[in-house]
Amino acid sequence: MAMVNLDEDARQERTGLGNYFVANYPPFSYWKPDHLGAAREALQRPVAGDKPLGLYLHIPFCRKRCKFCYFRVYTDKNAGDIETYVAALMREVELLAASPMARNRGVEFVYFGGGTPSFLSAAQLERLFARVKAHVPWSSAAEITFECEPGTLQRHKLEALRAAGVTRVSLGVENFSEALLKSNGRAHLSEEIFRAYGWIRELGFPQVNIDLIAGMLDESWDNWRDCIAKTLELAPDCVTIYQMELPYNTVFSKELRVIGNDEPAGAVADWPTKRAWVDYAYKELEKAGYTVTSATTAVKNASTRFVYRDSLWRGADMFGTGVASFGHVGGAHVQNLDTWEAYLGAVDKGEVPWARAYPLSERERFVREAILLLKKGYWDSADFLARHGRDPVAEFAAPVDDLVAMGMASRQAPGLVLSRPGLIQVDRMLPRFFEPEHRNYKRYT
Ligand code: SF4
Repeated sequence: MAMVNLDEDARQERTGLGNYFVANYPPFSYWKPDHLGAAREALQRPVAGDKPLGLYLHIPFCRKRCKFCYFRVYTDKNAGDIETYVAALMREVELLAASPMARNRGVEFVYFGGGTPSFLSAAQLERLFARVKAHVPWSSAAEITFECEPGTLQRHKLEALRAAGVTRVSLGVENFSEALLKSNGRAHLSEEIFRAYGWIRELGFPQVNIDLIAGMLDESWDNWRDCIAKTLELAPDCVTIYQMELPYNTVFSKELRVIGNDEPAGAVADWPTKRAWVDYAYKELEKAGYTVTSATTAVKNASTRFVYRDSLWRGADMFGTGVASFGHVGGAHVQNLDTWEAYLGAVDKGEVPWARAYPLSERERFVREAILLLKKGYWDSADFLARHGRDPVAEFAAPVDDLVAMGMASRQAPGLVLSRPGLIQVDRMLPRFFEPEHRNYKRYT
């Protein structure tokens, strides 16, 4: 649903067009080319102390486009195009790694996302890893995540990932039903999930995550129960559950749109149903010993960490490399150029390929962190006071009162704790914590 103002809470519960998920703050539509100077200056400033630094690498290739996907991905590139892209990606990593900001800093986490990183062949991956490591040695990193699409995996490809030091494999399952995978445009087959998962376990990766989506087109209670049962059989270390959105510019947003009305038709469940599915999943996972650690994740072992998410949400610097990627440098958000030609052209000229930026004030950094960390289900007042000199429970007293009155949260140690209904719908409540000047936008992205 497009988040515009506080009246959004009263909006009907149909799954309308637009983004619901709050991935960052301020909304991307406030990031502008005019702000690039501040980001470029940050890159030239050495960083004192041990502030974490992360690296994200975007591999924008997929076998086919899922009907709900709004990411920058390509399904028509050949081996030569891929070589060209990987060479540009390496050049970009080299440029950033040579900046004063990166000097003498180890890398805390590396994340290969997409797109489909596992679309690359084992040989392409081995070359890519060798070249990244030449500029950004990652042997001391706490976490190396690699996103995989089940149908692209072969055992030898996974062996290459294991040998390279990947610690966290994230498997894009989304659903176990052959019919739903097909109607939602996924490229993989149900049986490929089990085959890939078996290899992943045999090879002993330290952490395996499975992504699911609650509310794919044609989802039903019976099928969802079956999905959760199959998930429990696999027993991954982490389960991530997203609620289906219908962003603009997807196949579904066009296929399902009713002419003359900005609301989609079709069998996408409404928000209360999707929340009920997530609630059911978490209850089943908890019965099996899992711990819910955020609005979207449950982990088998309560001490399991997700370094990429937790560091980013607490303000870590991250070089976001690849076409259209998002990063954070020295207190400024940045996004790369988002077309193939523009991205390759800039890197070819030896330029950092940034398109737009947003330098955050100290207050905005605090607000951002409060918004993102609430997605973990609580605020720790002492932690905020130590790092920001402000307690969000006091700073946001009025919206906190609202959440408490609605039964979504309670004021209790360590500061504020969301109820399960509050956690499952946290994203729709987050705009009430936005600064007034960031509430009046038509599109989040
Ligand atoms: S695999 Fe992921 S990135 Fe690729 S089209 Fe599907 S949703 Fe988009």
